Amino acid sequence: MSVSTEALEDLVDELGNIPHSSEARLLRAKSRDRFAQSPVLREVMRGRVADIYIAPRSKEELRVTVGACVRHRIPITVRGAGTGQFGQGVPLSGGAVIDVTGITGIVPTTLGTVRALTGTLLVDIDNEIRPTGWEMRMHPSTKNQSTIGGYIAGGHAGIGSCQWGILRDRGNIVALEVMTAEENPRFIELTGEDVNIVHHAYGANGIITEVELPTAPAWNWQELVIAFPEFDQAARFAVDLCESEGILKKVVSVQQDPLPTYLPDLAPYVPQGHSMVLAMVAEQCMPVVEDLIAANNGHIGYRTDEEQGAYGIPMYEFTWGHAMMHYQRVNRKLIGLLALFPKDDLYDSIVRINRDFAHLGPTHIEMKRFDGGLSAQGSPVWDFESQEQMTEITRQLQEAGLDIANTHTPTLLASGMKPWAAAEAELKRVADPYGLLAQGKSDDETVNEVTEATALPSKGWKYRLTASDVQR
Ligand SMILES: Cc1cc2nc3c(=O)[nH]c(=O)nc-3n(C[C@H](O)[C@H](O)[C@H](O)COP(=O)(O)OP(=O)(O)OC[C@H]3O[C@@H](n4cnc5c(N)ncnc54)[C@H](O)[C@@H]3O)c2cc1C
Repeated sequence: MSVSTEALEDLVDELGNIPHSSEARLLRAKSRDRFAQSPVLREVMRGRVADIYIAPRSKEELRVTVGACVRHRIPITVRGAGTGQFGQGVPLSGGAVIDVTGITGIVPTTLGTVRALTGTLLVDIDNEIRPTGWEMRMHPSTKNQSTIGGYIAGGHAGIGSCQWGILRDRGNIVALEVMTAEENPRFIELTGEDVNIVHHAYGANGIITEVELPTAPAWNWQELVIAFPEFDQAARFAVDLCESEGILKKVVSVQQDPLPTYLPDLAPYVPQGHSMVLAMVAEQCMPVVEDLIAANNGHIGYRTDEEQGAYGIPMYEFTWGHAMMHYQRVNRKLIGLLALFPKDDLYDSIVRINRDFAHLGPTHIEMKRFDGGLSAQGSPVWDFESQEQMTEITRQLQEAGLDIANTHTPTLLASGMKPWAAAEAELKRVADPYGLLAQGKSDDETVNEVTEATALPSKGWKYRLTASDVQR
């Protein structure tokens, strides 16, 4: 236990009837996220457990909870649905896990945006607005499980990113309401460029209480399983599809042979030895998409209306983070890296890396736009042997021209996915004066043993500097 018994007892007194528990099994369960997908984190995260689990049911109960934790200097880890994959939801130094999944609801907004309380499930938001002809611009492949606050604090992109870019792209988050971790917590509304100060900060510089996102027209999406005799043809099709601005698409996922065979529900639609593209495109765009498939020697193995597939789940649950989950069901040792392919050399670099690293294993990439251009994210998928092996592969792929983020670490510093600059540090000083939020995860803290144990020689992702970054 990292918190004194007296402090915990005093905290419990202040919580009153706000649901809480220190039952050991519950604490273990609520101190985990999906970090076990990483063979590195399976070891490093072992035994890191909170001292108390608290589940406020409203923003007011959250305010009471946070104020009490701060007064007793108890570390705070906020928890959504716990689907983060990097161990970012694990309480590294014990304390309180505050589960916000009870704080739900959709707040009325103007046309073109949707605003919801932090614990609202993404699927509930989409279900609410779909009848109006609108939908969220993007969501993770965990739309059915994860919360809007957790997505903004722990995620970065997903289904829709091949059309709209990533969350941190200007305009993709409209506003965030954030609660400070002070003895008397306050609410701060962030808009404009400032939303990115808190986005993907793992809750280290503020607790998100409300999120406002832009919406997009909800087309009649078609789910397509497309097979190509050669990987290069699949890659060419994926790049051409995404570079066709007039075609409305939502996901474009390239999975090289034999990866389709690791997805038993899709394998029957992909001939032996073929590579696969999973795509969602608007129905009215199908004729031109069919032409593009034919031009690249591919064929549609299966087509259905959105979420009507014979495979029983939405097609996007075979893409993005879900793809590795399925692969690991066949072989738990399989792993990959979150590498970005260069925008100015996209198709050629995909083909080159695939050829030069064929000895590692087949390639899985997701097409995504960011900073105004098209890129692809992913890497070859290989059998994990050791941290040394992963270090060497990271070095080689980086030398070959990829920008790599370390997704096998819960610390922002070692990850390199989010810039932690003066604005992030300044908000942390204001919103978390006692350093209780997401302890051990932000760059402001001294390099701890977790950062060291999980470090890779990755240089992280680079984003274009904006005028406001420079001013800040
Ligand atoms: C199979 C799989 C597929 C995935 N696919 C994608 C994908 O396509 N795109 C993508 O971006 N991500 C993806 N992810 C990871 C992604 O981060 C989560 O799925 C999801 O968006 C997180 O939501 P959650 O409610 O589970 O958050 P949690 O896992 O509970 O929390 C995530 C992080 O945010 C913090 N946090 C949670 N709520 C708050 C809050 N209110 N205020 C401040 N901090 C908070 C937590 O402490 C933690 O650090 C995937 C994960 C899995 C397991």
